[in-house]
Amino acid sequence: MRTRRRVPITNTMIDPFGRHISYLRVSVTDRCDFRCVYCMAEDMSFLPKSEVLTLEELDRLCSAFVRLGVRKLRLTGGEPLVRRNILSLFRALGRHLESGALDELTLTTNGSQLARYAGELKAAGVRRVNVSLDTLDPAKFTAITRWGKLDKVLEGLDAAKRAGLQVRINAVALRGVNDDEFDRLVAWCGEQGFDLVFIEVMPMGEVGADARLDQYLPLSMVRAQLQRRWTLDETDYRTGGPARYYVVRETGRRLGMITPLTHNFCESCNRVRLTCTGTLFMCLGQEDAADLRAPLRLSESDEPLDQAIGAAIARKPKGHDFVIDRRHHRPAVRRPMSVTGG
Ligand code: SAM
Ligand code: SF4
Repeated sequence: MRTRRRVPITNTMIDPFGRHISYLRVSVTDRCDFRCVYCMAEDMSFLPKSEVLTLEELDRLCSAFVRLGVRKLRLTGGEPLVRRNILSLFRALGRHLESGALDELTLTTNGSQLARYAGELKAAGVRRVNVSLDTLDPAKFTAITRWGKLDKVLEGLDAAKRAGLQVRINAVALRGVNDDEFDRLVAWCGEQGFDLVFIEVMPMGEVGADARLDQYLPLSMVRAQLQRRWTLDETDYRTGGPARYYVVRETGRRLGMITPLTHNFCESCNRVRLTCTGTLFMCLGQEDAADLRAPLRLSESDEPLDQAIGAAIARKPKGHDFVIDRRHHRPAVRRPMSVTGG
């Protein structure tokens, strides 16, 4: 019988390419109250509750990563704020901010529940939130999200501002959908005091034949369009995520671009992603994954879990292979972003 190689446990996770893994993104639910056209089909079927980790299990898993060197935790989904009692997980994880083991606890949300939770998030230690908003036109907003109401999200954004949360707006650039609104989004974010990040559509999940090719708009074109009206000053500001930032001279706010397709950012990748069933994806754009639920449930001791995490990090791939063109309009990975967490 082959003996399993024991992976040495240290409190720094370094992958085979010398990258320090310091950022964990956790999808706390695959469910959502929206059905964005680029993310989900309208008739999505979701995981049975029994397969999903409990909030206590998610706390234990996240805490293991913090112990092993993660400094930044982002809760995402699906829509993290639709998970019942999710604030208890934020409050529990907040203890790592107080102890100094964690630098940042944050979330990505569609904003639909922010009016209700902004104050409690701030009290739990959250300082910044990413809110996804692709358009300021109410009809278009409902067309993109299928089930969403713009008013609710704008109310949520007001509540976030009042609570003192810093807001970054994430907008997916969609050809023929919001490409007439980029200037307006930059101006509005300037007025509101929000940073803004544009994201290229990524080939994840099945959203319908040719839909992806129709939606795809390279951000080089978005930047060229914006530069007709705005002065974009380059900056080396980074948040630990993949966005490259400019400062919009006229508004003083940051403008980021996430360009997985036109500019590959894998060489500086410091992050791994956990699904709500405890599956760890070492790369957003690859299928290889490690099951952490079994070692988590195997024992009350964290040793099997630490071993499994170490073994997973030891096989983090060098990069992804996303391509969208006429020959490659199948998804590079079949799971949608809502499974792995955007
Ligand atoms: N529901 C939350 C939200 O919408 O912010 C969190 C999860 S969502 C999957 C995270 C981010 O992924 C959102 O900003 C969304 O716009 C983005 N996203 C989803 N599917 C995408 C795709 N196929 N390509 C690019 N971005 C995508
Ligand atoms: Fe839900 Fe976010 Fe996906 Fe939209 S992008 S369907 S809000 S998970």
